[in-house]
Amino acid sequence: MAEYVLPDPVVQIAGVQEVARDLVVIPNRRVQLVPNIGVIGGAHSVLVIDTGMGPRNAEKVLEFAADYAGGRELYLTTTHFHPEHAFGAQVFAGEATFLINRAQAEDLAMKGAGYLKMFAGLGEPVARQLQGVELATADVVYDHSYDLDLGGRVVQLRATGRAHSKGDQVVTVPDAGVMFTGDLVEAGQFAIFPWFPPHDTDVSGMRWIAVMQRLIAERPQVVVPGHGDVGGPRLLADVGDYLELLRDETWVRRDSSMSEETIVDEVRALMIERHPDWSGQEWIEQGVGCLCAEHVA
Ligand SMILES: [Zn+2]
Repeated sequence: MAEYVLPDPVVQIAGVQEVARDLVVIPNRRVQLVPNIGVIGGAHSVLVIDTGMGPRNAEKVLEFAADYAGGRELYLTTTHFHPEHAFGAQVFAGEATFLINRAQAEDLAMKGAGYLKMFAGLGEPVARQLQGVELATADVVYDHSYDLDLGGRVVQLRATGRAHSKGDQVVTVPDAGVMFTGDLVEAGQFAIFPWFPPHDTDVSGMRWIAVMQRLIAERPQVVVPGHGDVGGPRLLADVGDYLELLRDETWVRRDSSMSEETIVDEVRALMIERHPDWSGQEWIEQGVGCLCAEHVA
């Protein structure tokens, strides 16, 4: 993967943004491997979305959330099982009810240990944050959707089906028009394709495109991406457009029996030309590899 040393993935409780009434985001400040973290309040309960990577980050998030809740009951959910989103959940045990979709619980159980090992190899700062991680078990597991009543505010948790991972979940707050997408959407960077054959090939570009079409049709007003700045519906459209273009440019070359190496080179150059300001260029190759495997002649 990356050849450079990744920055220390530290969650900073700074610049907390109120994106709607009683709904705040701890922004990732565009630091790699730090997610946007949501805290959503109702009359009697508060839901935290994502933990940050490892117990030390999660302790800061829990401290902030408990303070924010001011005695209200705490819930925790995670958008998907990847380390910076979910590998801090252990800290919330006994403090919050941990609630996730079944496919994500299965991802965590089946692949959590492998991801812990893989991420620990991403450099010393990341390894340090992962020290002491114990994979948590959810208190409540749902199959397709779950309406969580926070008191005068119902938050909808929904499994999208396999896309960025097998167990992706989106969280929406209908009364505020807010949608938390996890890594189905990133702002200002290329879509993250965790395509690591033969170890992990769960990401599906084709299913991801279909999921994006459904999310766009819901017309949220505020979109909180997994990483990058909070935005509006344009963020969803940008990801949908990118994924479709990536598919089309990959498949047209695949049809001409070009080598995968040449496809990667050409498509990467095109995508960078289209989005010169986006980071995460290393994920384009992964995306092309995934879509080559999904190619239908
Ligand atoms: Zn992810």
